[in-house]
Amino acid sequence: MSLNAATRYCAVVGHPIRHSASPAMHNAALTELGLDWRYLAFDVLPERLSEAIAGAKAMRFIGLNLTVPHKLLALEMVDVLDESARKWGAVNTIRFEARDGDGAWQPLRAFEHSAPDEIRSHGFNTDAAALSQSLKEDLGLDLSGTTVLLLGAGGAASAAAFKLASEKVAALHLVNRTESKALALAEEVRRRHPGVRVSCGYPNQPVDLLLNATSLGLKLNDPLPLDIAKFPVTQTRAVYDMIYRPAETPLLQTARAAGCRTANGLGMLLHQGADALEIWSGTPAPRETMRAALRKNIYES
Ligand code: NDP
Repeated sequence: MSLNAATRYCAVVGHPIRHSASPAMHNAALTELGLDWRYLAFDVLPERLSEAIAGAKAMRFIGLNLTVPHKLLALEMVDVLDESARKWGAVNTIRFEARDGDGAWQPLRAFEHSAPDEIRSHGFNTDAAALSQSLKEDLGLDLSGTTVLLLGAGGAASAAAFKLASEKVAALHLVNRTESKALALAEEVRRRHPGVRVSCGYPNQPVDLLLNATSLGLKLNDPLPLDIAKFPVTQTRAVYDMIYRPAETPLLQTARAAGCRTANGLGMLLHQGADALEIWSGTPAPRETMRAALRKNIYES
């Protein structure tokens, strides 16, 4: 389909954004669904995020995805929060909506030929469900009763912490560069899930899963996100790195060499993107087409 004046847009915004495989995944899906929509990517600084959301709203974008470092900031910027964003503590998907003739808010896809004046931004979180689906599919992990060391306390880590706790992990250990953020996250997880043992710092005992939700590993010369003097990788059975490019981070290489089961964030990216597309389009997302587009983009380029 060629671009024309009726073409509608979705986009991912982040900083940096060049590593994103989301456009390849979403555009493959849009083609398969026969939608005259395009999915773009924009490098937006955190201090311009509010303007970027307002711009997309004014231009009647269908929706946005948010990535590093915007997911927590957006909690305060969208007009209304879905239960998922409230529950998992971060926004990674925005759907733009307008009122129909009965005054009910509808996704902008419903307004093909009219341009409503009043548009609102509705924030969702699809990361948390996607993570637990990927842990099941890619590591065969059922979270209930497991012990987890979670690295990071940003948007993705917060969503992961609440999701892990809601799936009744037995113990959750939080480590983050800025310790105060890990302490605040631990406090909030304890408040919402009193049955889960939550502590900050490296555990003294082995864990079932080490989960990297920091951005360390995205850049070529990044150090490991883990202090191996305090916690050797041999102390975990499985390692999941939310990073998907490079396909194998130094953390995953080290863990694989130590005999751990490993998986990167491709499955999570797939499912959070597919769930976002379903929120925007109201149609089942073609997940296998999206997975194939991601693999091609990440492993063959
Ligand atoms: P945020 O910016 O919200 O958080 C970044 C996290 O990384 C913080 O905990 C931060 O620590 C830590 N960090 C950043 N730089 C350093 C450093 N130099 N040393 C130590 N820690 C550091 O980002 P997100 O939570 O949104 O994303 C985190 C990672 O997860 C990214 O790599 C992202 O690509 C990936 N991700 C993957 C997804 C997928 O679908 N596969 C989905 C979502 C995220 P501090 O608090 O001290 O700043």
